[in-house]
Amino acid sequence: MKKTIGLVAHDQKKPDLADWAAHHRQALGQHILCATGTTGGVIEKATGLEINLLKSGPLGGDAQLGAMIAEQRLDVLIFFIDPLSALPHDVDVKALTRLAILYNVPFACNRATATAVLKHI
Ligand code: PGA
Repeated sequence: MKKTIGLVAHDQKKPDLADWAAHHRQALGQHILCATGTTGGVIEKATGLEINLLKSGPLGGDAQLGAMIAEQRLDVLIFFIDPLSALPHDVDVKALTRLAILYNVPFACNRATATAVLKHI
């Protein structure tokens, strides 16, 4: 069944997410993909997949994904958080993480988990 998948990666993790998405291009292509602006652009370029682009994360894209979760319009969140950098929009990162937990949305923060989640949706 077609699911709606949210994709976000912080700057240092964008190459990792783009590479992961290229490896899983075919499976991802079966679903509706939404991403924060810059992440989505990088993934589109790496894969040719069609992605619904939201605002850039620090400009409200994370909040848009959070709203989709609260409205039960997002089925899966793939969010490659950078564990080594301080982020100006840390509050948005926390809010999105919190909503994913609260609404029991499958939520992958790294490649291993993203691969496992994609196999089971
Ligand atoms: P971006 O946002 O895809 O626009 O870079 C991601 C983020 O930092 O939340």
